[in-house]
Amino acid sequence: MHDFELSMLPWNLVFGAGAVGTLPTRMDHMSLCRALVLSTPEQATQAKRIASLLGNRAAGSFSEARMHVPVDVANAARERARALECDCCVSIGGGSTTGLGKALALDPGIPLIAIPTTYAGSEMTNIWGITDGGRKHTGRDLKVLPSLTIYDAELTLDLPLSMTGVSAMNALAQATVNAYDPRPSPLVRTMALEAISTLSKALPDVMSQPHDIDAREQLLYGASLAAAALGTGVTSLHHKLCHTLGGTFNTPHAETHTIMLPYTTAYNAPAVPQLMAPVATALGSDSAAAGIFNLAAGLGLPTSLDHIGIGAGDLDHIASIVLEQPPQNPRAVTKTAIMALLEQALAGTRPAG
Ligand code: NAD
Repeated sequence: MHDFELSMLPWNLVFGAGAVGTLPTRMDHMSLCRALVLSTPEQATQAKRIASLLGNRAAGSFSEARMHVPVDVANAARERARALECDCCVSIGGGSTTGLGKALALDPGIPLIAIPTTYAGSEMTNIWGITDGGRKHTGRDLKVLPSLTIYDAELTLDLPLSMTGVSAMNALAQATVNAYDPRPSPLVRTMALEAISTLSKALPDVMSQPHDIDAREQLLYGASLAAAALGTGVTSLHHKLCHTLGGTFNTPHAETHTIMLPYTTAYNAPAVPQLMAPVATALGSDSAAAGIFNLAAGLGLPTSLDHIGIGAGDLDHIASIVLEQPPQNPRAVTKTAIMALLEQALAGTRPAG
């Protein structure tokens, strides 16, 4: 074992079917009384239900959350929070809505209560992201970590299968990167491997029985663990590529992770064979990259960049942006290597290794 340092994040989590019903009492215990309820337009009805559950603890709502937190959306929500003199925000939704809550936690600096309804896991990390001028800017700040997260699997039962599969693969990416990277502590690696095992078992169950509450709870738990690993661990080439695709080409976040994960894993495998072997075992496969590809392809999830509108003519631009600030990564990052990796992801065939 190598020497390590670790700072755990101060998570405050509640897991349970129906647990959202306890939100008003929990807000009272936290001395919070004027919430701005955040959602996307697609989840405005769920947000209304939260607002009516909160009664006069809901100062208002803002249902314009969008993927990758565009700066104009963040600023509009900030204006609403200030005008309504909100003392907190409650996000109900996936990573886009949690991300908007994080923007409010940064400025005007009000606490965030997160109710996640996808497997993106943003609620477990201190990572924020805002997109401005075609670039996604990210950073880490403890201020953006939710003061409370309520995981209520009942709210995930109607997440469409098209989103369920790719969102769980997004969680798998967070865990995989932190399981094979030598930098995180053994504790983070333990969480990451447990997440890989939980997610890869629960996902096929949920895809065949979407209304099975136990399977949905397992998937939510796996996603929470995966994001705990990301929140206390690292990002590397995989995340840099996905953020470049999302920030510059506006590709859908979860699909992008789903497509890139087998190829970034295969790329790193020769550099860290001892760390990659337990990843394969957790997936129940001989090879981590092939195991991930087989899981995705077996569930009919996308495997090629072509699926999200990226063509051969875009690859050089993507590689150049990544190399403007090359990420720390287990295997050295060069232009030739990124181009080869992207060409494989465009071809969409099972990676070797
Ligand atoms: P999303 O939040 O954009 O959700 C996708 C769609 O699904 C939206 O229309 C949403 O309203 C809908 N939806 C969500 N839950 C639903 C439910 N239960 N039933 C019906 N519809 C539902 O997608 P996402 O993949 O969860 O989040 C992506 C965003 O999260 C990206 O911007 C990404 O960068 C960010 N993210 C951040 C972190 C972090 O640590 N900061 C981690 C993961 C993702």
